[in-house]
Amino acid sequence: MFRKVHLRLAGLCAGITAVILLAMSLGCLYVSEKGLRDNSFISFQNDMNTVIGNLEQQTVITHEWLSKMEDHGKYLIHLTDNGVPFFFNSRSSDAETLLFETALREYETRFPDDTQTEDSFHTEFSFSASGRGAPDHYACVAVDRRGSGSFQALILAPQLQLQRQIRMQRILFLLLDAAALCALGLFAWHFTRILLEPLEESRRQQARFVSAASHELRTPLAVILSCASAAERADGTKRRHFLESIRSEGSRMSRLIDDMLLLTRADSHGWTIRREPTELDTLLLDACETFEPMASEKRLRLTPFLPGHPVPACRCDRERIYQVLFILLHNAVSYTPEGGQIRVSLDLDEQKKFRIRVADDGIGIPDAEKAHIFERFYRADQSRSQKGHFGLGLCIASEIALAHRGSLSVEDTPGGGSTFLLRLP
Ligand code: ADP
Repeated sequence: MFRKVHLRLAGLCAGITAVILLAMSLGCLYVSEKGLRDNSFISFQNDMNTVIGNLEQQTVITHEWLSKMEDHGKYLIHLTDNGVPFFFNSRSSDAETLLFETALREYETRFPDDTQTEDSFHTEFSFSASGRGAPDHYACVAVDRRGSGSFQALILAPQLQLQRQIRMQRILFLLLDAAALCALGLFAWHFTRILLEPLEESRRQQARFVSAASHELRTPLAVILSCASAAERADGTKRRHFLESIRSEGSRMSRLIDDMLLLTRADSHGWTIRREPTELDTLLLDACETFEPMASEKRLRLTPFLPGHPVPACRCDRERIYQVLFILLHNAVSYTPEGGQIRVSLDLDEQKKFRIRVADDGIGIPDAEKAHIFERFYRADQSRSQKGHFGLGLCIASEIALAHRGSLSVEDTPGGGSTFLLRLP
């Protein structure tokens, strides 16, 4: 499914940027071509001013002078005196003659008013030799009606150089656009992959969560089912024993479901943190008191360490922070062998943040496991996992710390064991 979404998103992203790019490059191409044509036409007009000026000053027009004016084929000149073509014109090839005729026809249709003009003038224009497509020739018609006769010059300038320049420019734009489109396609593909990566990861996590949750629920369910069928056949004390097992497995399942719902709410930001001024030292003593019977049953020494001076109240959700302390103390009692020691302390760091430490001298957590123990359903050693430990406790505790803009971390206790550090602003 993600592959399909990835493909579509990459296509959409590349498509939109490609359209914008093409529109922009076509705009640039148009402006650039227009500039080239305009400059070239202005330069032709300037040249014509010079040529016509020269022509007017000539008393005798010689072949040499005309050849010089034609500038090695840059211009083609056709002269008529009172409608009679000059002898020089007879050198023109058939193609050139046809070109002159096309230019004259074009001139007569585009500038019909010029014939009524009495005086001398010259008009420049551009036209297409084939009569179709973009103009590829410039033409200048100069008429001198001073005196008794009428002298006419038609000068043509094929724009081969300009055409070549424009063609090259178009090819260059095409190549650049093609390269940019390839780069855009690649970029869109990688960009959308990076964009979708967190979504894919979250889906993977969800799948892992569901499979781990089903796995965890299967065990108590199997026990309940087998106890129920055994209870049907048993009587008296045995029956009570089976019913007791059903009840305890049922409450285990209920706790697991509560934990899972809590995490699901955390994922959808459904937690409400009710901040109220809380005396953390009192909270800590309460939590220690709760675990005292469990600790003494295991012959563990549970000692709270509080600062000698009054501690300011912390604005936090009392219930949730108590839940964190409960999880940390439950783990400390569970993973510390008999005769061990658990120290719970509270102090303030240099930035006036509250620090609660729960340190035990128990089995400890190997460095490789430390990064994973906050993951859902993760248990450092599955073989030593105990009843009532689903691998969700630390995950919930760390979510609560984050919801308070605090943090929960773990380090080794000097001499062995683990120390959990909860920081709260
Ligand atoms: P669980 O419910 O299994 O204790 P947690 O999320 O609370 O799940 O802890 C995850 C794992 O981290 C535990 O399975 C255990 O292996 C390890 N762990 C947690 N606290 C301690 C501790 N105080 N000492 C040693 N290992 C611990």
